[in-house]
Amino acid sequence: MSSDPNCIFCKIIEGKIPSKKVYEDDELFGFHDIAPWAPVHFMLVPKRHIASMSQLTPEDAALMGKIMILAPKLALENGCRPYPEGGFRVVINTGAEGGQEVQHLHVHVMGGPRPWLRG
Ligand code: 5GP
Ligand code: ZN
Repeated sequence: MSSDPNCIFCKIIEGKIPSKKVYEDDELFGFHDIAPWAPVHFMLVPKRHIASMSQLTPEDAALMGKIMILAPKLALENGCRPYPEGGFRVVINTGAEGGQEVQHLHVHVMGGPRPWLRG
């Protein structure tokens, strides 16, 4: 399934629910978290509906690699200070015990001056 009509992040990607976009290309979408843990907190998601990291296959290696390369660039563009004084945190919550609340794979990118609200 490419898009899930009941998925909140699919609706955000399709523009049916508004979001503060930080990035978009043909296969990825990035937007600010509505309840940020840190001064900078956005998420990168594949446009294709993938429920979680547990559903990834070897065919997704380039997609996930692209997210990893984009994260530092977008972190700087969105207010994180450079490494090593600044930096950022990348989190992928997976499954109930992993703390995943939205069942569409998303990579959290958090940063900015401490203290943070959480984390
Ligand atoms: P999870 O706990 O699944 O890793 O993270 C889901 C994240 O999605 C949470 O940090 C939550 O604040 C964020 N979120 C949930 N609903 C919305 C929404 O409608 N818009 C945006 N921008 N973020 C959302
Ligand atoms: Zn989805």
